[in-house]
Amino acid sequence: MADMAAAIISERMQFNSEDASALAKELRVGFDSGKTRSYQWRASQIEALIKLTQNHEEEIVRALYSDLSKPHTEAFVHEIGMLKNSCKVVLKELKHWMKPEKAKTSITTFPSSAEIVSEPLGVVLVISAWNYPFLLSLDPVIGAIAAGNAVVLKPSEIAPATSSLMAKLLGEYMDSSCIRVVEGAVDETSALLQQKWDKIFYTGNGRIGRIVMTAAAKHLTPVVLELGGKSPVVVDSNINLQVASRRIIAGKWGCNNGQACISPDYIITTKDYAPKLVDALKTELEAFYGEHPLESKDLSRIVNSNHFARLTKLLDEDKVSGKIVYGGERNESKLRIAPTLLLDVPRNSMIMNEEIFGPLLPIITVDKLEESFDVINSGTKPLAAYLFTNNKKLKEQFVKTISAGGLVVNDTTLHLAVHTLPFGGVGESGIGAYHGKFSFDAFSHKKAVLYRSFLGDAALRYPPYTNTKLRV
Ligand code: NAD
Repeated sequence: MADMAAAIISERMQFNSEDASALAKELRVGFDSGKTRSYQWRASQIEALIKLTQNHEEEIVRALYSDLSKPHTEAFVHEIGMLKNSCKVVLKELKHWMKPEKAKTSITTFPSSAEIVSEPLGVVLVISAWNYPFLLSLDPVIGAIAAGNAVVLKPSEIAPATSSLMAKLLGEYMDSSCIRVVEGAVDETSALLQQKWDKIFYTGNGRIGRIVMTAAAKHLTPVVLELGGKSPVVVDSNINLQVASRRIIAGKWGCNNGQACISPDYIITTKDYAPKLVDALKTELEAFYGEHPLESKDLSRIVNSNHFARLTKLLDEDKVSGKIVYGGERNESKLRIAPTLLLDVPRNSMIMNEEIFGPLLPIITVDKLEESFDVINSGTKPLAAYLFTNNKKLKEQFVKTISAGGLVVNDTTLHLAVHTLPFGGVGESGIGAYHGKFSFDAFSHKKAVLYRSFLGDAALRYPPYTNTKLRV
Protein backbone atom coordinates (compact mmCIF):
# COMPACT_ATOMS: atom_id res chain seq x y z
CA MET A 1 0.00 0.00 0.00
CA ALA A 2 2.77 2.41 1.04
CA ASP A 3 4.95 1.15 -1.84
CA MET A 4 2.22 1.98 -4.34
CA ALA A 5 1.70 5.46 -2.88
CA ALA A 6 5.44 6.13 -3.10
CA ALA A 7 5.45 5.06 -6.75
CA ILE A 8 2.52 7.35 -7.55
CA ILE A 9 4.20 10.27 -5.84
CA SER A 10 7.51 9.87 -7.65
CA GLU A 11 5.75 9.49 -11.00
CA ARG A 12 3.81 12.66 -10.40
CA MET A 13 6.77 14.74 -9.32
CA GLN A 14 9.06 14.92 -12.37
CA PHE A 15 11.36 17.26 -10.52
CA ASN A 16 14.63 17.32 -12.47
CA SER A 17 17.97 19.02 -12.07
CA GLU A 18 16.81 22.16 -13.93
CA ASP A 19 13.94 22.46 -11.47
CA ALA A 20 16.37 21.91 -8.60
CA SER A 21 18.73 24.55 -9.95
CA ALA A 22 15.86 27.04 -10.40
CA LEU A 23 14.65 26.34 -6.86
CA ALA A 24 18.11 26.80 -5.36
CA LYS A 25 18.45 30.13 -7.22
CA GLU A 26 15.02 31.28 -6.08
CA LEU A 27 15.82 30.56 -2.47
CA ARG A 28 19.20 32.25 -2.85
CA VAL A 29 17.33 35.41 -3.90
CA GLY A 30 15.13 35.01 -0.82
CA PHE A 31 18.16 34.60 1.42
CA ASP A 32 20.07 37.47 -0.22
CA SER A 33 17.13 39.80 0.46
CA GLY A 34 18.32 39.63 4.08
CA LYS A 35 14.90 38.91 5.55
CA THR A 36 15.81 35.54 7.09
CA ARG A 37 18.44 37.25 9.24
CA SER A 38 16.05 39.22 11.41
CA TYR A 39 14.85 37.87 14.73
CA GLN A 40 11.27 38.79 13.70
CA TRP A 41 11.33 36.62 10.57
CA ARG A 42 12.84 33.64 12.37
CA ALA A 43 10.37 33.87 15.26
CA SER A 44 7.41 34.37 12.93
CA GLN A 45 8.29 31.20 10.99
CA ILE A 46 8.66 29.15 14.17
CA GLU A 47 5.32 30.51 15.39
CA ALA A 48 3.79 29.57 12.03
CA LEU A 49 5.09 26.05 12.51
CA ILE A 50 3.45 25.83 15.93
CA LYS A 51 0.18 27.10 14.47
CA LEU A 52 0.39 24.63 11.58
CA THR A 53 0.92 21.78 14.03
CA GLN A 54 -1.89 22.88 16.34
CA ASN A 55 -4.40 23.49 13.57
CA HIS A 56 -3.72 20.18 11.83
CA GLU A 57 -2.95 17.78 14.66
CA GLU A 58 -5.57 15.26 13.61
CA GLU A 59 -4.45 15.29 9.97
CA ILE A 60 -0.85 14.74 11.04
CA VAL A 61 -1.86 11.83 13.26
CA ARG A 62 -3.88 10.35 10.37
CA ALA A 63 -0.96 10.69 7.95
CA LEU A 64 1.35 8.94 10.43
CA TYR A 65 -1.23 6.21 10.81
CA SER A 66 -1.49 5.83 7.06
CA ASP A 67 2.29 5.59 6.66
CA LEU A 68 3.12 3.40 9.66
CA SER A 69 -0.07 2.60 11.63
CA LYS A 70 1.67 4.74 14.23
CA PRO A 71 -0.31 4.57 17.49
CA HIS A 72 -2.11 7.79 18.36
CA THR A 73 -0.15 8.31 21.60
CA GLU A 74 3.20 7.80 19.91
CA ALA A 75 2.21 10.23 17.14
CA PHE A 76 1.23 12.84 19.72
CA VAL A 77 4.12 12.42 22.13
CA HIS A 78 7.04 11.49 19.89
CA GLU A 79 6.31 13.52 16.79
CA ILE A 80 3.91 16.40 17.48
CA GLY A 81 4.84 16.96 21.13
CA MET A 82 8.59 16.81 20.48
CA LEU A 83 8.28 19.21 17.57
CA LYS A 84 6.25 21.75 19.53
CA ASN A 85 8.79 21.51 22.29
CA SER A 86 11.63 22.28 19.90
CA CYS A 87 9.70 25.33 18.66
CA LYS A 88 9.11 26.53 22.22
CA VAL A 89 12.78 26.18 23.14
CA VAL A 90 13.72 28.30 20.12
CA LEU A 91 11.18 31.00 20.94
CA LYS A 92 12.42 31.13 24.53
CA GLU A 93 16.15 31.11 23.76
CA LEU A 94 16.65 32.53 20.27
CA LYS A 95 17.38 36.17 21.22
CA HIS A 96 20.05 34.93 23.57
CA TRP A 97 21.54 32.52 20.99
CA MET A 98 21.69 35.27 18.37
CA LYS A 99 23.73 37.59 20.60
CA PRO A 100 27.46 37.72 19.82
CA GLU A 101 29.44 35.79 22.38
CA LYS A 102 32.31 37.63 24.08
CA ALA A 103 35.69 35.93 23.71
CA LYS A 104 38.83 36.46 25.79
CA THR A 105 41.81 38.05 24.11
CA SER A 106 45.51 37.65 24.81
CA ILE A 107 48.51 39.88 25.40
CA THR A 108 49.44 39.49 21.71
CA THR A 109 46.51 41.68 20.65
CA PHE A 110 46.45 44.05 23.65
CA PRO A 111 44.47 46.26 23.70
CA SER A 112 41.56 44.53 21.97
CA SER A 113 38.21 42.86 22.41
CA ALA A 114 36.74 39.87 20.58
CA GLU A 115 33.45 38.19 19.92
CA ILE A 116 31.97 35.23 18.10
CA VAL A 117 29.13 36.18 15.80
CA SER A 118 26.69 33.47 14.71
CA GLU A 119 25.74 34.09 11.10
CA PRO A 120 23.41 32.04 8.90
CA LEU A 121 25.11 29.75 6.39
CA GLY A 122 22.76 30.60 3.52
CA VAL A 123 20.54 28.13 1.66
CA VAL A 124 20.47 24.66 3.18
CA LEU A 125 19.06 21.27 2.24
CA VAL A 126 17.39 18.87 4.70
CA ILE A 127 16.88 15.26 3.56
CA SER A 128 14.91 13.17 6.02
CA ALA A 129 13.92 9.58 6.75
CA TRP A 130 10.58 7.76 6.99
CA ASN A 131 10.43 6.42 10.54
CA TYR A 132 9.58 9.66 12.36
CA PRO A 133 8.64 11.44 9.18
CA PHE A 134 7.11 14.55 10.76
CA LEU A 135 9.65 15.16 13.52
CA LEU A 136 12.78 14.19 11.60
CA SER A 137 11.80 16.46 8.71
CA LEU A 138 10.81 19.52 10.67
CA ASP A 139 13.18 19.43 13.64
CA PRO A 140 16.23 20.18 11.46
CA VAL A 141 14.14 22.76 9.57
CA ILE A 142 13.53 24.52 12.91
CA GLY A 143 17.30 24.68 13.46
CA ALA A 144 17.86 26.02 9.94
CA ILE A 145 15.23 28.74 10.39
CA ALA A 146 16.37 29.64 13.90
CA ALA A 147 19.88 30.20 12.55
CA GLY A 148 18.46 32.47 9.80
CA ASN A 149 18.80 30.26 6.71
CA ALA A 150 16.60 29.59 3.72
CA VAL A 151 15.80 25.89 3.57
CA VAL A 152 14.62 23.15 1.21
CA LEU A 153 13.15 20.06 2.84
CA LYS A 154 13.10 16.69 1.01
CA PRO A 155 11.01 14.30 3.11
CA SER A 156 11.14 10.53 2.66
CA GLU A 157 9.05 9.00 -0.12
CA ILE A 158 8.64 5.92 2.09
CA ALA A 159 6.21 7.89 4.29
CA PRO A 160 4.17 9.41 1.42
CA ALA A 161 1.12 10.60 3.37
CA THR A 162 3.22 12.62 5.82
CA SER A 163 5.42 13.87 2.98
CA SER A 164 2.52 15.26 0.97
CA LEU A 165 0.81 16.71 4.05
CA MET A 166 3.97 18.58 5.02
CA ALA A 167 4.40 19.86 1.44
CA LYS A 168 0.82 21.18 1.49
CA LEU A 169 0.92 22.69 4.97
CA LEU A 170 4.36 24.29 4.74
CA GLY A 171 3.21 25.85 1.45
CA GLU A 172 0.22 27.35 3.26
CA TYR A 173 1.84 28.46 6.51
CA MET A 174 5.48 29.28 5.87
CA ASP A 175 7.29 31.95 3.84
CA SER A 176 7.64 30.15 0.51
CA SER A 177 10.30 32.57 -0.75
CA CYS A 178 12.68 30.99 1.75
CA ILE A 179 11.18 27.66 2.90
CA ARG A 180 10.19 24.94 0.44
CA VAL A 181 9.40 21.24 0.32
CA VAL A 182 10.37 18.98 -2.57
CA GLU A 183 8.71 15.58 -2.52
CA GLY A 184 10.20 12.59 -4.23
CA ALA A 185 12.62 9.68 -4.14
CA VAL A 186 16.08 8.94 -5.54
CA ASP A 187 15.78 10.99 -8.78
CA GLU A 188 14.48 14.09 -7.04
CA THR A 189 17.05 13.82 -4.22
CA SER A 190 19.84 13.30 -6.76
CA ALA A 191 18.71 16.41 -8.67
CA LEU A 192 18.81 18.38 -5.43
CA LEU A 193 22.21 16.96 -4.49
CA GLN A 194 23.72 18.27 -7.74
CA GLN A 195 23.13 21.84 -6.58
CA LYS A 196 25.39 23.89 -4.37
CA TRP A 197 23.99 24.20 -0.84
CA ASP A 198 25.54 25.87 2.17
CA LYS A 199 24.83 22.84 4.35
CA ILE A 200 23.21 19.45 3.85
CA PHE A 201 21.50 17.84 6.81
CA TYR A 202 20.75 14.18 6.08
CA THR A 203 18.95 11.60 8.23
CA GLY A 204 18.97 7.98 7.10
CA ASN A 205 21.26 5.02 6.56
CA GLY A 206 25.02 5.18 6.10
CA ARG A 207 25.03 3.86 2.54
CA ILE A 208 23.06 6.86 1.32
CA GLY A 209 24.95 9.04 3.80
CA ARG A 210 28.06 8.29 1.75
CA ILE A 211 26.25 9.32 -1.47
CA VAL A 212 25.18 12.58 0.20
CA MET A 213 28.67 13.30 1.48
CA THR A 214 30.24 12.58 -1.92
CA ALA A 215 27.83 14.98 -3.62
CA ALA A 216 28.48 17.60 -0.93
CA ALA A 217 32.26 17.27 -1.32
CA LYS A 218 32.02 18.46 -4.92
CA HIS A 219 30.90 21.87 -3.66
CA LEU A 220 32.83 21.79 -0.36
CA THR A 221 29.47 21.79 1.38
CA PRO A 222 29.53 20.80 5.05
CA VAL A 223 27.20 18.02 6.15
CA VAL A 224 25.43 16.73 9.19
CA LEU A 225 24.77 13.01 8.83
CA GLU A 226 22.30 11.54 11.31
CA LEU A 227 22.82 7.83 10.76
CA GLY A 228 22.08 4.64 12.69
CA GLY A 229 23.80 1.55 14.01
CA LYS A 230 23.41 -1.26 16.50
CA SER A 231 22.56 0.33 19.84
CA PRO A 232 23.32 -2.15 22.65
CA VAL A 233 21.75 -2.53 26.10
CA VAL A 234 23.92 -3.98 28.85
CA VAL A 235 21.89 -5.47 31.71
CA ASP A 236 23.44 -6.12 35.13
CA SER A 237 21.84 -8.40 37.75
CA ASN A 238 21.59 -5.91 40.65
CA ILE A 239 18.71 -3.88 39.18
CA ASN A 240 14.99 -3.28 39.51
CA LEU A 241 14.19 -5.84 36.82
CA GLN A 242 10.59 -4.86 36.26
CA VAL A 243 11.42 -1.19 35.72
CA ALA A 244 14.37 -2.09 33.49
CA SER A 245 12.24 -4.45 31.38
CA ARG A 246 9.54 -1.82 30.93
CA ARG A 247 12.09 0.80 29.90
CA ILE A 248 13.72 -1.56 27.40
CA ILE A 249 10.28 -2.33 25.93
CA ALA A 250 9.36 1.37 25.80
CA GLY A 251 12.57 2.14 23.88
CA LYS A 252 12.17 -0.81 21.53
CA TRP A 253 8.57 -1.65 20.69
CA GLY A 254 7.17 1.60 22.14
CA CYS A 255 9.23 3.52 19.59
CA ASN A 256 7.63 2.74 16.27
CA ASN A 257 7.89 -1.01 16.89
CA GLY A 258 11.67 -0.87 16.93
CA GLN A 259 11.89 1.20 13.74
CA ALA A 260 13.78 3.96 15.53
CA CYS A 261 17.43 4.90 15.21
CA ILE A 262 18.10 4.73 18.96
CA SER A 263 15.92 1.73 19.77
CA PRO A 264 17.77 -1.03 21.61
CA ASP A 265 19.22 -3.27 18.89
CA TYR A 266 20.49 -6.09 21.11
CA ILE A 267 20.96 -6.93 24.77
CA ILE A 268 24.08 -8.21 26.48
CA THR A 269 23.77 -9.86 29.87
CA THR A 270 25.40 -12.68 31.80
CA LYS A 271 24.59 -16.35 31.11
CA ASP A 272 23.25 -16.67 34.68
CA TYR A 273 20.95 -13.70 34.49
CA ALA A 274 19.58 -14.18 30.96
CA PRO A 275 16.67 -16.55 31.89
CA LYS A 276 15.41 -14.09 34.54
CA LEU A 277 15.62 -11.20 32.10
CA VAL A 278 13.81 -13.13 29.38
CA ASP A 279 11.01 -14.01 31.81
CA ALA A 280 10.62 -10.42 32.94
CA LEU A 281 10.54 -9.11 29.36
CA LYS A 282 7.95 -11.72 28.40
CA THR A 283 5.72 -10.80 31.36
CA GLU A 284 5.82 -7.10 30.59
CA LEU A 285 5.41 -7.61 26.84
CA GLU A 286 2.31 -9.64 27.43
CA ALA A 287 0.97 -7.05 29.88
CA PHE A 288 1.50 -4.28 27.30
CA TYR A 289 0.52 -5.94 24.02
CA GLY A 290 -1.65 -8.89 25.09
CA GLU A 291 -1.62 -12.50 23.98
CA HIS A 292 -2.09 -11.56 20.33
CA PRO A 293 0.39 -8.74 19.68
CA LEU A 294 -0.19 -8.92 15.92
CA GLU A 295 -3.61 -7.45 16.69
CA SER A 296 -2.34 -4.76 19.09
CA LYS A 297 -3.26 -1.18 18.22
CA ASP A 298 -0.31 -0.02 20.29
CA LEU A 299 2.33 -1.25 17.83
CA SER A 300 3.26 0.35 14.51
CA ARG A 301 3.33 -1.90 11.48
CA ILE A 302 6.46 -2.53 9.43
CA VAL A 303 6.72 0.36 7.01
CA ASN A 304 6.63 -1.58 3.72
CA SER A 305 7.08 -4.98 2.13
CA ASN A 306 10.82 -4.43 1.48
CA HIS A 307 11.47 -3.88 5.15
CA PHE A 308 9.13 -6.76 6.05
CA ALA A 309 11.18 -9.08 3.79
CA ARG A 310 14.45 -7.76 5.22
CA LEU A 311 13.32 -8.44 8.80
CA THR A 312 11.89 -11.89 8.13
CA LYS A 313 15.16 -12.82 6.39
CA LEU A 314 17.03 -11.96 9.59
CA LEU A 315 14.59 -14.09 11.58
CA ASP A 316 14.60 -17.04 9.20
CA GLU A 317 18.36 -17.45 8.90
CA ASP A 318 19.06 -21.08 9.81
CA LYS A 319 21.39 -20.40 12.70
CA VAL A 320 18.93 -17.93 14.22
CA SER A 321 15.46 -19.42 13.71
CA GLY A 322 15.85 -21.92 16.57
CA LYS A 323 16.78 -19.17 19.01
CA ILE A 324 13.37 -17.48 19.29
CA VAL A 325 12.22 -17.53 22.92
CA TYR A 326 9.23 -15.23 22.52
CA GLY A 327 7.16 -13.98 19.58
CA GLY A 328 8.18 -14.65 16.00
CA GLU A 329 4.62 -14.45 14.63
CA ARG A 330 4.05 -12.40 11.49
CA ASN A 331 1.32 -11.39 9.10
CA GLU A 332 2.67 -10.46 5.71
CA SER A 333 -0.48 -8.97 4.24
CA LYS A 334 -0.83 -6.61 7.22
CA LEU A 335 2.94 -5.99 7.43
CA ARG A 336 2.94 -6.98 11.10
CA ILE A 337 5.69 -8.71 13.06
CA ALA A 338 5.20 -9.48 16.76
CA PRO A 339 7.71 -8.37 19.40
CA THR A 340 10.33 -11.11 19.24
CA LEU A 341 13.06 -12.12 21.68
CA LEU A 342 15.95 -14.34 20.60
CA LEU A 343 18.44 -15.84 23.05
CA ASP A 344 22.08 -16.68 22.40
CA VAL A 345 22.11 -15.94 18.69
CA PRO A 346 25.52 -16.59 17.11
CA ARG A 347 27.68 -13.49 16.83
CA ASN A 348 28.30 -14.22 13.14
CA SER A 349 24.58 -14.22 12.28
CA MET A 350 23.10 -11.53 10.03
CA ILE A 351 20.94 -10.23 12.87
CA MET A 352 24.08 -9.51 14.91
CA ASN A 353 25.86 -7.86 12.01
CA GLU A 354 23.40 -5.34 10.63
CA GLU A 355 21.14 -2.75 12.18
CA ILE A 356 17.83 -4.51 12.92
CA PHE A 357 15.48 -1.49 12.80
CA GLY A 358 12.40 -3.51 13.69
CA PRO A 359 10.69 -5.56 16.43
CA LEU A 360 13.37 -8.27 16.83
CA LEU A 361 15.56 -8.18 19.95
CA PRO A 362 18.44 -10.65 20.26
CA ILE A 363 20.02 -11.26 23.65
CA ILE A 364 23.62 -12.40 23.75
CA THR A 365 25.34 -13.66 26.87
CA VAL A 366 28.78 -13.31 28.43
CA ASP A 367 30.41 -14.92 31.49
CA LYS A 368 31.18 -11.61 33.16
CA LEU A 369 29.35 -8.36 32.47
CA GLU A 370 32.60 -6.43 32.00
CA GLU A 371 33.17 -8.46 28.82
CA SER A 372 30.17 -6.74 27.27
CA PHE A 373 32.17 -3.53 26.84
CA ASP A 374 34.68 -5.37 24.65
CA VAL A 375 31.81 -6.83 22.62
CA ILE A 376 30.44 -3.33 22.00
CA ASN A 377 33.83 -1.81 21.24
CA SER A 378 34.62 -4.58 18.76
CA GLY A 379 31.83 -3.30 16.50
CA THR A 380 31.29 0.09 14.85
CA LYS A 381 30.41 2.99 17.11
CA PRO A 382 26.67 2.92 17.85
CA LEU A 383 24.26 5.87 17.88
CA ALA A 384 23.28 5.07 21.48
CA ALA A 385 24.31 2.64 24.21
CA TYR A 386 22.42 1.79 27.37
CA LEU A 387 23.39 0.27 30.71
CA PHE A 388 21.13 -0.95 33.51
CA THR A 389 23.03 -1.28 36.79
CA ASN A 390 23.30 -0.10 40.35
CA ASN A 391 27.04 -0.59 40.34
CA LYS A 392 28.79 2.78 40.50
CA LYS A 393 32.09 1.46 39.18
CA LEU A 394 30.41 -0.17 36.20
CA LYS A 395 28.62 3.08 35.35
CA GLU A 396 31.93 4.95 35.43
CA GLN A 397 33.63 2.31 33.31
CA PHE A 398 30.74 2.41 30.81
CA VAL A 399 30.93 6.19 30.40
CA LYS A 400 34.72 6.05 30.12
CA THR A 401 35.08 3.16 27.69
CA ILE A 402 32.03 3.14 25.40
CA SER A 403 32.15 5.49 22.44
CA ALA A 404 28.65 6.11 21.08
CA GLY A 405 26.55 9.06 19.94
CA GLY A 406 24.90 9.14 23.37
CA LEU A 407 24.70 7.03 26.52
CA VAL A 408 21.86 6.46 28.98
CA VAL A 409 22.22 4.74 32.32
CA ASN A 410 19.14 2.96 33.66
CA ASP A 411 16.82 3.92 30.82
CA THR A 412 16.66 3.91 27.02
CA THR A 413 16.15 6.59 24.33
CA LEU A 414 15.29 9.46 26.70
CA HIS A 415 18.48 11.44 26.07
CA LEU A 416 16.76 12.43 22.82
CA ALA A 417 14.22 14.43 24.81
CA VAL A 418 16.81 16.54 26.67
CA HIS A 419 17.31 19.58 24.49
CA THR A 420 20.45 20.64 26.33
CA LEU A 421 22.19 17.46 25.14
CA PRO A 422 23.59 17.17 21.60
CA PHE A 423 21.93 14.45 19.52
CA GLY A 424 24.09 12.83 16.89
CA GLY A 425 26.40 9.95 16.11
CA VAL A 426 30.11 9.26 16.03
CA GLY A 427 32.05 7.25 13.46
CA GLU A 428 29.64 5.05 11.48
CA SER A 429 26.64 6.43 13.40
CA GLY A 430 27.03 9.94 12.08
CA ILE A 431 28.70 13.31 11.81
CA GLY A 432 27.55 16.40 13.72
CA ALA A 433 24.69 16.86 16.14
CA TYR A 434 21.52 18.86 16.69
CA HIS A 435 18.64 19.62 19.11
CA GLY A 436 18.18 22.86 21.08
CA LYS A 437 21.16 25.20 20.79
CA PHE A 438 23.09 22.47 18.95
CA SER A 439 20.62 22.80 16.05
CA PHE A 440 21.19 26.55 15.94
CA ASP A 441 24.94 25.97 15.95
CA ALA A 442 24.73 23.25 13.28
CA PHE A 443 23.23 25.77 10.85
CA SER A 444 25.39 28.77 11.84
CA HIS A 445 28.85 29.91 10.94
CA LYS A 446 30.76 31.01 14.02
CA LYS A 447 32.41 34.16 12.77
CA ALA A 448 35.49 35.33 14.68
CA VAL A 449 35.62 39.11 15.12
CA LEU A 450 38.53 40.97 16.70
CA TYR A 451 38.25 44.69 17.54
CA ARG A 452 41.43 46.77 17.84
CA SER A 453 41.99 50.45 18.41
CA PHE A 454 44.94 52.41 17.06
CA LEU A 455 46.81 52.00 20.34
CA GLY A 456 49.36 49.30 21.11
CA ASP A 457 51.06 49.40 17.72
CA ALA A 458 54.05 47.15 18.58
CA ALA A 459 57.14 47.78 16.44
CA LEU A 460 58.04 44.08 16.68
CA ARG A 461 55.48 43.23 13.96
CA TYR A 462 57.12 45.35 11.33
CA PRO A 463 60.33 45.00 9.37
CA PRO A 464 63.14 45.45 9.47
CA TYR A 465 63.20 42.49 11.92
CA THR A 466 66.07 43.09 14.31
CA ASN A 467 67.35 41.44 17.46
CA THR A 468 66.90 44.69 19.31
CA LYS A 469 63.15 44.57 18.63
CA LEU A 470 62.98 40.97 19.84
CA ARG A 471 64.48 42.01 23.16
CA VAL A 472 61.84 44.71 23.72
P1 NAD B 1 14.95 6.49 3.77
O1 NAD B 1 14.87 5.28 2.92
O2 NAD B 1 13.75 7.33 3.99
O3 NAD B 1 16.15 7.36 3.16
C1 NAD B 1 16.53 8.59 3.71
C2 NAD B 1 16.48 9.66 2.64
O4 NAD B 1 17.45 9.37 1.64
C3 NAD B 1 15.13 9.76 1.95
O5 NAD B 1 14.73 11.11 1.91
C4 NAD B 1 15.39 9.19 0.58
O6 NAD B 1 14.59 9.76 -0.42
C5 NAD B 1 16.85 9.52 0.36
N1 NAD B 1 17.49 8.59 -0.59
C6 NAD B 1 17.23 7.28 -0.74
N2 NAD B 1 18.04 6.74 -1.68
C7 NAD B 1 18.81 7.74 -2.14
C8 NAD B 1 19.86 7.84 -3.10
N3 NAD B 1 20.26 6.78 -3.80
N4 NAD B 1 20.43 9.04 -3.31
C9 NAD B 1 20.04 10.12 -2.60
N5 NAD B 1 19.06 10.09 -1.66
C10 NAD B 1 18.47 8.93 -1.43
O7 NAD B 1 15.45 6.13 5.21
P2 NAD B 1 16.39 4.94 5.70
O8 NAD B 1 17.78 5.16 5.22
O9 NAD B 1 15.73 3.62 5.50
O10 NAD B 1 16.30 5.27 7.27
C11 NAD B 1 16.64 4.34 8.22
C12 NAD B 1 18.07 4.58 8.66
O11 NAD B 1 18.18 5.90 9.15
C13 NAD B 1 18.49 3.69 9.81
O12 NAD B 1 19.83 3.35 9.65
C14 NAD B 1 18.31 4.58 11.02
O13 NAD B 1 19.10 4.22 12.12
C15 NAD B 1 18.71 5.91 10.46
N6 NAD B 1 18.07 6.98 11.20
C16 NAD B 1 18.85 7.82 11.91
C17 NAD B 1 18.28 8.82 12.66
C18 NAD B 1 19.11 9.75 13.47
O14 NAD B 1 18.57 10.74 13.96
N7 NAD B 1 20.40 9.51 13.63
C19 NAD B 1 16.89 8.96 12.68
C20 NAD B 1 16.13 8.09 11.92
C21 NAD B 1 16.72 7.10 11.18
